[in-house]
Amino acid sequence: MLVTCGALGLTVAARPNTQNRPTANAPLQLQTRNASAQSTQIVLLGTGTPSPDPDRSGPATAVVVNGTPYLIDFGPGVVRRVAAASQKGVTGLSVVNMRVAFLTHLHSDHTAGYPDLILTPWSVGRSQPLEVYGPAGLKHMTDHILEAYREDIAIRRRDKQALGVPEQADGYKVQAHEITPGAVYKDQNVTVKAFLVNHGDVAQAFGYRLETPDRTIVISGDAAPSQSIIDGCNGCDVLIHEAYSMLTYNAVSPAYQEYRRKHHTSSREMAEIAKKSRPGLLVLYHRANPGGVGRPNPELALLEEVRQLYGGKVVIGRDLDVF
Ligand SMILES: [Zn+2]
Ligand SMILES: [Zn+2]
Repeated sequence: MLVTCGALGLTVAARPNTQNRPTANAPLQLQTRNASAQSTQIVLLGTGTPSPDPDRSGPATAVVVNGTPYLIDFGPGVVRRVAAASQKGVTGLSVVNMRVAFLTHLHSDHTAGYPDLILTPWSVGRSQPLEVYGPAGLKHMTDHILEAYREDIAIRRRDKQALGVPEQADGYKVQAHEITPGAVYKDQNVTVKAFLVNHGDVAQAFGYRLETPDRTIVISGDAAPSQSIIDGCNGCDVLIHEAYSMLTYNAVSPAYQEYRRKHHTSSREMAEIAKKSRPGLLVLYHRANPGGVGRPNPELALLEEVRQLYGGKVVIGRDLDVF
């Protein structure tokens, strides 16, 4: 099996799951990617957490089907990461093409890129409204962002009229759809189904299943162990799931450990979920902070912990990985 991973434009052979070796950054056998081999590509735009790691933008994932991008979450940095992926040649993934997005939940690490997603593509030429699907409260957030930028929007609308591009004058608008579990979107490329996940005291947190002509992709969003993710994947091609390592868990205070247990998924729990949901490929993202500034990167520990308990294909997702 070939999956595209690591640097954009390269395809690597998915490695057999060897035990007890930290292989997240081990040398891989690289091959030139055949871009037309699959009509669906997954681009990890942001794999971070609230921690402002310069190597990891806030959570955001693009699924590109037949050259049309669909975005899941819009953490800080999302539009710059789209531009980076576009420059490196993901066909159809461009800033002005960002028109359909799905939000898992209202936490700021997943939404701080929202004004950017609304305004920047419009500023550089998007003429159609943004369609956004997400939990209750999305409309309120949307209305207030538009109100906060009222002055900028008025100026740019006048500028676009004066510059002779009146068709772009309304491209800042947003159709915000507050959803309930079930099928929430369908077009010729993709069917998107939403399901509720357990994210502690967050009133509504969704995971999503995207069904395209050639792939089925499930993304957890932020979640403590949730049966809905197992049911949503059920042998899916790719499961993108958050996880924290026990290494970092053991490095934080008891109160913070309790917070993690209620809101997120440990490596051990991740392995159990993977065994039950049987994805073709498990991609770990939104991994927990190291437990303090200056601590070593915990990614290899996370991967190792999961691999000790789960024999399927699993990788650590990094920003601008393509699968
Ligand atoms: Zn988060
Ligand atoms: Zn969250």
